[in-house]
Formats: sequence, structure tokens, C-alpha cells
Amino acid sequence: MSNLLTYKMFIGGDWVDARSGEWFESFDPYAGKPWALVARGGEADVHDAVAAAQSALTSGEWPKLKASQRGAVLRRLGDLIAREAERLAALEVRDNGKLIAEMGAQVRYLPQWYYYYGGLADKIEGSVIPIDKADTFNFTRHEPVGVVAAITPWNSPLLLTSWKLAPALAAGCTVVVKPSEHTSISMLEFCKLIEEAGFPKGVVNVVTGYGPEVGEPLVAHPDVAKVAFTGGEMGGQKVYETAARGLKKVTLELGGKSPNIVFDDAVLDDAVKGVISGIFAATGQTCIAGSRLLVQKSIEKPLTEKLLALASTARMGNPMSLDTQIGPVTTRQQYQKILGYIDVAKQEGARLALGGRPADRPECGEGWFVEPTIFSGVNNQMRIAREEVFGPVLSIIPFADEDEAISIANDSPYGLAAGVWTTSIKRAIRSSERLQAGSVWVNTYRAVSYMSPFGGYKRSGLGRENGQDAIWEYLQTKSVWISTADEVANPFVMR
Ligand code: NAD
Repeated sequence: MSNLLTYKMFIGGDWVDARSGEWFESFDPYAGKPWALVARGGEADVHDAVAAAQSALTSGEWPKLKASQRGAVLRRLGDLIAREAERLAALEVRDNGKLIAEMGAQVRYLPQWYYYYGGLADKIEGSVIPIDKADTFNFTRHEPVGVVAAITPWNSPLLLTSWKLAPALAAGCTVVVKPSEHTSISMLEFCKLIEEAGFPKGVVNVVTGYGPEVGEPLVAHPDVAKVAFTGGEMGGQKVYETAARGLKKVTLELGGKSPNIVFDDAVLDDAVKGVISGIFAATGQTCIAGSRLLVQKSIEKPLTEKLLALASTARMGNPMSLDTQIGPVTTRQQYQKILGYIDVAKQEGARLALGGRPADRPECGEGWFVEPTIFSGVNNQMRIAREEVFGPVLSIIPFADEDEAISIANDSPYGLAAGVWTTSIKRAIRSSERLQAGSVWVNTYRAVSYMSPFGGYKRSGLGRENGQDAIWEYLQTKSVWISTADEVANPFVMR
């Protein structure tokens, strides 16, 4: 084997090689080179992990813990994450090339999920139903749904895993995580904190590898009761189809083509900052990227000028440097896909106003960098306005009035998020009511919290993560009936 670092999987509390003995490379997008080898899991490893999770669900310490004890273990994990945040963030940057400024802030925020759901664990109460039958006592219990498969993408590995893991564990489930093949390492390091926090063996397991080799058998496994998936539309659809055959519960967090709408009464300098962070943060590789800028025609010229002026100052380079403002694209495949979309936009007649090519800057080295790109004169029917690029490419689409803005915004197969820039409170409220999106931001963009539900309308997903809603995705309700009658009634007399 080469001299790259090697990472084993975490199954049933043990660090194991893949049963096949195979490995795959994890790449550093800034260097454009592999930096680690990760165990290449397969169906046999999935079976081992699900068996460990199933056993931990039904026997041993975990099912015996009271909800408040589970909550305490979750909060302990939160403390350990806080202790290790800088190290975990640096690993994520190495693997996905996102800026240390963003990943550092993200991982420092992560403990809150474990504190919040740790606190919620013992507040899930059943009810006593004032049942309409004589001599009968009826009440409900909320029980863990079972073994959860958590499948995650590469853009925010630990954050998006925690959106699943924290409520699932608070609910008393056990979990098999399948991280993205591009960014497995932070999750494996995270498992050391799971061990240290004191979770019983098998409560959290990680099988690393590719979608078809690990993700598919995991979703199909008969002992997996629930699938929580974040990723692209194609993968999400496949997961949904496979899960349907097993009649499993599913949550899907998929992609978007989110509109960021600037009305002529907006504070332009604020809107420009919001539009730039909406599309160029994380190099556009976020599901909530504000990739369609809808601008009122009367301010199109000054807004575009201000945007170009600010976007052209963006510093690109080493994502580990706190000065860098735009980092590389995470995978070579994604880099090629973005450049492909830029060609498509040009062919469709969109006008290139900025960028539109690989970044040929010395500070970008051998990494996979694309210049921040802005197209003007985009029509909402063009592919560049309909399909998710997942890169630093903004399309400017003009509109005449509020009705047209809302109609263009909603004319999309997706409905993950939307931004509105206006100083009119009436317009802000009207727009928030009319926009078909799971999150609407007014005079801000990209705000998310463990406290507030997140998810998609239309093809952007199913179910919600975060907030109190999320724990219900991991619970099922049992109705318990107890007769208080002195004797059982005559079976031939209906009551
Ligand atoms: P992807 O769909 O290619 O992969 C996501 C995960 O699914 C990976 O772990 C992958 O190995 C696995 N997978 C792929 N095919 C599978 C299959 N058939 N069965 C089971 N698992 C399978 O997505 P990606 O390229 O890693 O991530 C980018 C996508 O994720 C974008 O579309 C983005 O919008 C979306 N995303 C959504 C959210 C959200 O919360 N809505 C957040 C981040 C990213």
C-alpha cells in the first residue's frame, strides 16, 4: 500500500477493514491529489453494520437508558465536539476544499445540535386519551423507529450528518452512517468522540464507500427502518424507489435552484452582499445557493455594476488561509460539470458578464478552481436557470413587477429556499407567503439553525430536519389499550 494515511470503518464499536480488503483514495481538492486511503465497504460490511445496529437497538445498554440519560450522552458528545472543533474543521477542509473560515464556524456551531436534541430527548411525551369506551384506559408512547441509515453528501459532512444523527439518537434509534466517498474522514474521526462520549457499541456505525456499493444495499437492507438522505436529485430518487420496496420511512434533502429576488426598494449595497454570499460562499456548492438572481428591471444596471465590482475582488486560493474568499471545487467531476454548464449557458445565449473559465491564478496551484461567474440576460427557461449547477455560477434574470418576480421564482421544479430584498414590510410578508420554498429569507440569506425546521418543497425533498419537527421523523407512535373491567365481555356481544 502507498504511504497515504489509512482510515478503517467503525462497525459495532470496532475499527475494521473492508471485508474485501479494498481501499479507495480521498482527494485534497486544493492540491488536486489523493491524501488518504479509506476502506472500500461493500454489501458484506453493510450487513455487519446493520446487524450491530439492530443488536444495539434491542439488547444491551442502549434500550435500557432512560431518555434523560440518552440526552446526557448526547450533551457529552457536544462538549467533545467543541473540544475538537478546530481539528475536525481542518480535516473537512482537506477533504472538501471549503474555506476554513466557513468550516471552522460550522463545526464550532455543531455542538448545539447535540445540546438541543439532548435536551429534547426527555420531553417527548405520550398522552392519555379520554377514550370513548367504558372500562378502558388508552395512552400513547413514542418509540424509536428502529435502525436508521444516514446517507450524506460532501459539501458539509459533519453538519449534515448531525442533522440526522442528533435527533435519531435522541429518539433512541441506532444509526448506520454512509458518508460521501469524497469526504469520509471527518466522520471517521468523529467516531472516536462517539466512543469517548460513552455510546454503547453498535449505536453508531460508519460504512465508507460508494453509493451503489454501500448506499444501495444499506437502503435495501430489511432491518433498516428509516432512511435519512441528503444529496442530489438522482440519488434521492433512487433511494426513494428502493426504500419504497421495503415500505421504509424516508426523509430526503435534495437540491435547489433558489431565487434571490431584489426589488427596486431594496438597500442595494446590502442586497449585493447577500447575493454574493448566496452564490459564491462554499464556491456555490451548497443546496441553498441563490443561483438565480431575480432583479427588478429599473435597478438591473446599477445592481449588476455593483455585483461585478464586488465579485471581481474575490480572493481565491488556499482554503486553509483565513484570507481566502473562494476556494476550489470539491471534486474533479464537479469541476468539469460546472465548466460544462458554463458552455451550455453561452450556447443558450446568456451573456457572460464575469469569469466563465477555470481560474488561472498562481495562488490556485494545481487545484480545481473556477472563476466566479455571472451571466446576465438569462431567461428562466434556459437550462442554466432550471438545473442545479452546484458551483460559483450566477444567472441574472430581470423582472418587471412583484407578480412577475414571484411567478418566475416559483417556476422551478425545486423549492428549497428563496431570498427577498426589500424595505417594504408589506412586500416582505406577501412574498414570504407566496414563495414556494422551505426557507424564505428577507434581507438576509443562508441563515440556518438547529432550532428552525429545514427542508424542501417540490423536488427539493421530503420531510424536515432541525427544530422540534425533526425528532418526529425518528419516532413511531404506539397506542396502548388496557381494560379496567372486572371481567372480559361476552365475545358474541359487540360493545
Ligand atoms: P449525491 O447524491 O451524489 O451523493 C450523496 C450521497 O448519496 C453520497 O454518500 C453517495 O455515495 C450516496 N449515493 C449516491 N447514489 C446512491 C444510491 N443509489 N443509493 C444510496 N446512496 C447513494 O450528492 P453529492 O454530489 O454528494 O452532493 C451534492 C448534492 O447534495 C447536491 O444536489 C445538493 O443540492 C445536495 N444537498 C442537499 C442538501 C439539503 O439539505 N437539501 C444539503 C447539501 C447538499
